[in-house]
Amino acid sequence: MKKANRERLIDQAARLLTSASAVVCLTGAGVSAESGVPTFRDAQTGLWSQFEAEELASPQGFERDPGLVWRWYMWRLTVVEAATPNPGHAALARLASLCEEFVLVTQNVDNLHEQAGSADILHLHGSLLHFRCQVCAQPHRLTDAERRRQLPPTCARCGEFVRPDVVWFGEGLPWQAVEAAFVAASSCDLMLVVGASGLVYPAAQLPLIAKQAGATILDINLQPGPLSSIVDLFLQGKSGEILPALAQSVAWLIQG
Ligand SMILES: [Zn+2]
Repeated sequence: MKKANRERLIDQAARLLTSASAVVCLTGAGVSAESGVPTFRDAQTGLWSQFEAEELASPQGFERDPGLVWRWYMWRLTVVEAATPNPGHAALARLASLCEEFVLVTQNVDNLHEQAGSADILHLHGSLLHFRCQVCAQPHRLTDAERRRQLPPTCARCGEFVRPDVVWFGEGLPWQAVEAAFVAASSCDLMLVVGASGLVYPAAQLPLIAKQAGATILDINLQPGPLSSIVDLFLQGKSGEILPALAQSVAWLIQG
């Protein structure tokens, strides 16, 4: 995007945001990638590349080899913990404070939005930083010793294995988060989609629902994605560069 053109589009987007009373923001892998968090596939380097994704991240894989799955998730946790939020994460937290109503929905399993100061995030795919019993779902607080073990820890309540609280292949999504996201999408007047090029169901439905309900769709991405046909305003580029400029424009407009 040329500089003058980008400034014009950002100003246009800022005006749309300030006139909206309910905003929903949907973030995807692109936002985390700018902080160096690899996608599932990209994390499968070295010794992990010899395994099928289903061996590492499905109920069947966990049943077959809980130690392998545990070690994979401890590795991914280490990678996520080494990452820090980028200016895009910070700008979304700022935008939330500038908007009347702002709901943040993410497909990402890291906690970079939380670290940047966003609250009440709807994690559609769970979180790499949370753990629960595979049978009774009792939450489990991970200790340092457990991280280094070859097998997952066991549940304090029922003795079954503890697993990461993420959505695995073949599993349904956390219904409370999904339901809340659908309700927010159907009643928002602006949806901001950021870094979510590979939208999968049901996240892919959210912009469609918002559009059908009359909302304006804003898309910030490196490339035009599958949503192109319903997007009202497309801002091409890194979210870590565009979002801070957008939040600043919104702040200026509000201050008048
Ligand atoms: Zn249990």
